[in-house]
Amino acid sequence: MPRPQLQYLNDELQQLEAKGLRTKLRVLRGEQLPVAEFDGRRVINLSSNNYLGLCTHPRLREAALEATRTLGVGSGAVRTISGTMAIHMELERRISEFKHTEDSVVFQSGFTANSGTVGAIMGRNDFIISDELNHASIIDGARLSRATIKVFAHKDCNAAEAILKELAPQPGRKLLITDGVFSMDGDIAPLPELCDLAERYGAVMMVDDAHASGVLGKNGRGTVDHFGLHGRVDVQVGTLSKAIGALGGYVAGSRDLIEFLHLRGRPFLFSTSHPPSVAATCIAALEVLQLEPERIQTLWDNTAFFKAGLKKLGFDTGASQTPITPIMVGEGRRAIEFSRGLFQAGLFATGIAYPTVAEGKARLRTIVTATHTQADLGEALGILEQVGKAQGII
Ligand SMILES: *Cc1c(COP(=O)(O)O)cnc(C)c1O
Repeated sequence: MPRPQLQYLNDELQQLEAKGLRTKLRVLRGEQLPVAEFDGRRVINLSSNNYLGLCTHPRLREAALEATRTLGVGSGAVRTISGTMAIHMELERRISEFKHTEDSVVFQSGFTANSGTVGAIMGRNDFIISDELNHASIIDGARLSRATIKVFAHKDCNAAEAILKELAPQPGRKLLITDGVFSMDGDIAPLPELCDLAERYGAVMMVDDAHASGVLGKNGRGTVDHFGLHGRVDVQVGTLSKAIGALGGYVAGSRDLIEFLHLRGRPFLFSTSHPPSVAATCIAALEVLQLEPERIQTLWDNTAFFKAGLKKLGFDTGASQTPITPIMVGEGRRAIEFSRGLFQAGLFATGIAYPTVAEGKARLRTIVTATHTQADLGEALGILEQVGKAQGII
């Protein structure tokens, strides 16, 4: 029996249940593989962010084991006290080299990199101009900063400019911020145009490349490299938890930016740094991006193959331009039911509904990886056709 103080949580859960949105965690047994066992069932896994298959790459695994053997399992403190190990500094040196920036700083996750950075570099009298589909960690960081938040319609540069123009007489600083690749739609931000706007109106330009790192640009350097915008984006965030295969987030930019975050980024100051094995894994991942660029090519080949198959079957894949491929369904309950039906038939594609996406824009979210075979993807398309027809999606 819930205690009376918490009865309201039970009421809310019942309401979600009534809407068909009380989803349960799926449990993976074994490794994060393209075909894996979730909840005791073998399924084709189109639900991970393990774009390049690095979660189980032998070189990364060995690096983690070696670091654990020689450096232990924990760092023992926050970075600003005694928790900065040489291997953390080495990873940051490698990231700045990879991103062609002066310096970089690693946070515990992409989430804390965003929330900690936006919260630190903007303040009460400032303005944050943000795409409406930006990630939750940007939204939380913006709220933590206490700056005024101005949201523009998705990828609408005219709307962003109208806000910047209106704010021009205001003395506060301005931050123009966007995801590089949008996490639920898989479309790419109009970064060149946004950089032009930021420069014209004197705004700080920030991009969150969580889904672009390891995916877009030369050797997976991200959207800044993809568009040839080196030196024009003040704050680049990336994650080490998706294509890189481990855990963490980073900010790459100028020396002053990074030093400032060392002194004012709250998750950096108040939460313990990564175990050395995580830093070692990420260093090995950056090496693999250089040594095995064919992984990224295979990822894009698989993406093209799968998207073409979906189109041929008549699915609506929205505005996707990257391996993140939504299958638009509409109503939340239908998306969750579609996902359940697919799972029973051997395909794991997550159903996404409100509040993760807007009401009426529920969908399945699929991500192919470099390690899926075309046979896996062909089988996935067969299951999508069968269940999609049975449920009247196509
Ligand atoms: C996943 C994601 C993050 C958070 O990254 P983690 O390393 O998982 O905390 C931040 N921004 C975007 C756009 C994301 O998709």
